[in-house]
Amino acid sequence: MLEIKDLHTYYGNIHALKGISLEVEQGEVVSLIGSNGAGKTTTLRTIQGLLKPRQGKILFEGNSLESLSAQAIVRLGISQSPEGRLIFPRMTVQENLEMGAFSRRDAVGIKSDLEKALHLFPRLRERINQKGGTLSGGEQQMLAIARAMMARPRLLLLDEPSMGLAPMLVSQIFSIIRDINIQGTTILLVEQNARMALTVSHRGYVLQTGEIVLTGTAKDLQSNETVRKAYLGET
Ligand code: ATP
Repeated sequence: MLEIKDLHTYYGNIHALKGISLEVEQGEVVSLIGSNGAGKTTTLRTIQGLLKPRQGKILFEGNSLESLSAQAIVRLGISQSPEGRLIFPRMTVQENLEMGAFSRRDAVGIKSDLEKALHLFPRLRERINQKGGTLSGGEQQMLAIARAMMARPRLLLLDEPSMGLAPMLVSQIFSIIRDINIQGTTILLVEQNARMALTVSHRGYVLQTGEIVLTGTAKDLQSNETVRKAYLGET
């Protein structure tokens, strides 16, 4: 579904992605793990068209994304829940969700997806008329994911969905991620919480200073000694 080949992205002279290649097949949850500054967010921003790669290819269902605008990429079926949430603080929960469907014209479909999102996140239904900025951190995270779902993506990009959440909420968010996948959405997941990410993923890639250093099934990575020491906090 998504195929990235030899991707190089720079910030000025900083060579942030040094030729990464990865694939996501339809129906998979694939995680991209790595420590701070490894290039995880940069990878997602490049896929989304927010950063232009200097070299390399990004193919989504056969379409080249490198020269498309971010909006055209959303229309092709890729949407993202960004790191740090970035919901609209002065809009209500409902308005935030409606904004997620900005590229769509099918009012009936939008209404039914809104219902699905509220079913997935009952907490948001309870707060439907509350302003986004007054939600708790965990609720804002849920809103950002639900808003991304409102674009009805075939590929959902999630950037650090567990960041800053209490442990109970972390398990809840990952269980919702699994549900979203089971209902048919393919997911590329960026996480520092490698342990949780691998429990919901089929496969994973380990990114280190702009390069993929390891890839395998989630099971392989969970039992890999380097991964265990560097990312799963084992000694
Ligand atoms: P984190 O988990 O801390 O968010 P990350 O793996 O997502 O890390 P990126 O944000 O992709 O890492 O950053 C990759 C590299 O690019 C880092 O060295 C970072 O300092 C650099 N970088 C990121 N954004 C910019 C920017 N706007 N200008 C210059 N350098 C940047």
